[in-house]
Amino acid sequence: MDEWDTIRERMVKLLSETKTPLSAKEIAFELGIEDERMVYEELKHVMKSIKRTGKRLYVQPAYCKKCGFVFKQNLFRKPSRCPRCKSQWIEPPRYIIR
Ligand SMILES: [Zn+2]
Repeated sequence: MDEWDTIRERMVKLLSETKTPLSAKEIAFELGIEDERMVYEELKHVMKSIKRTGKRLYVQPAYCKKCGFVFKQNLFRKPSRCPRCKSQWIEPPRYIIR
């Protein structure tokens, strides 16, 4: 079992126990992961690996706080700018396991 297996397990536990969906930044903070992008990569693995446990990873997609555009594609990254209004005021995607 390598380090990332452990982190993945802690991520499943964190997202299963949280009351409200968490952003990658919050997950990174809780688990002591320095690079937020690694959280997105791990979440993809988590989504597949928990299927057999009967649980599911729910994603609240990122959205533009200026015009409300919802980023339904690319659920595992934080978009940098809105394709509709060009705003960079983006609410990141959030995740929860139930
Ligand atoms: Zn927008």
